[in-house]
Amino acid sequence: MRKNIIAGNWKMNTTLPEGLALAKGLNKALEGKSLKCDVVIGTPFTHLAGVAAAVDTARIGVAAQNCADRDKGAYTGEVSAAMIASTGAGYVILGHSERRQYYHETAATLKAKVALALANGLKPIFCVGEVLEEREAGKHFDIVDQQVRDSLFDLTPEDFSRIVIAYEPVWAIGTGKTATADQAQEIHAHIRRTIASRYGEAIAADTTILYGGSMNADNARDLVARPDVDGGLIGGASLSVEKFLPIVEAF
Ligand code: PEP
Repeated sequence: MRKNIIAGNWKMNTTLPEGLALAKGLNKALEGKSLKCDVVIGTPFTHLAGVAAAVDTARIGVAAQNCADRDKGAYTGEVSAAMIASTGAGYVILGHSERRQYYHETAATLKAKVALALANGLKPIFCVGEVLEEREAGKHFDIVDQQVRDSLFDLTPEDFSRIVIAYEPVWAIGTGKTATADQAQEIHAHIRRTIASRYGEAIAADTTILYGGSMNADNARDLVARPDVDGGLIGGASLSVEKFLPIVEAF
C-alpha cells in the first residue's frame, strides 16, 4: 500500500532559531495524534541537523530541498547527498520548478541528483509540472511524461520504488490558484499510468504522488479525497503550525 505524505517545503525562509522553533512547534502539535499520513518538512541545509535532532524523526521526516549532482570534491558551495544523509534527513526534494527555472536544472542534472540521493539512502521527492502556457495549449500530460521519463526511467524497479512524485503545476505555486481536485486527479492518474508503462502496475500502484500548488487548510480535504492524490507538497502554508496542521489532518 502506498503511503500518504504531507510534506512542507520551507524554501529559503526562516533563520536557524526560527526554523528550530517551527519544527519543535510542529513536533509538539503532533504529539499523541494518530495520523493517516506521514509528515515531512523540507528545511534549508543549515537547519537539517538541528531540526532532525529536535523532532521525533519517527513521526516527522526531514528533507533537504536540493543536493549536488556530484559525489564529493572541489565543488565550492555544493552540498552532497552523503552530507544530507549524515544530518539525519531522510528525503530530498529534487526538480522543484524554482530550481529548474532559476538555477537552470536540466533533466540530465536531475537524473544525476536522483541517482546520488538513492545511492546515499535518501528518498527523492521528485517534482514535475507544467507552466501556464503549456496547460493552456493542452500539453500538460506530455510535459509531465517527459519530465518523468527523462530523469526517472533508467532506474531499477527497486530504486524507483523509493521515489515520491510531486505534481506541481507551476501556475499554482505561490499564486493562490490551485488546480481543481478534478484536474489533480486527472493528471495524477495519468502519471500513474506512465509509471505503470515502465515499471508495471504493482509499482505504479505503490507510488506516492503528491499534489503541490497553493494547497491550504480549505482545499486540502477535497484534493486528498481523490484516489490518486496521496498527499501534498506545501510551500507557504508549511511556515506556520496553525496553517500546516489542518492540512496534515485533512485525511
Ligand atoms: C511549493 O513550492 O512546492 C509549493 C507548493 O508552494 P505553495 O504551497 O506556496 O504554492
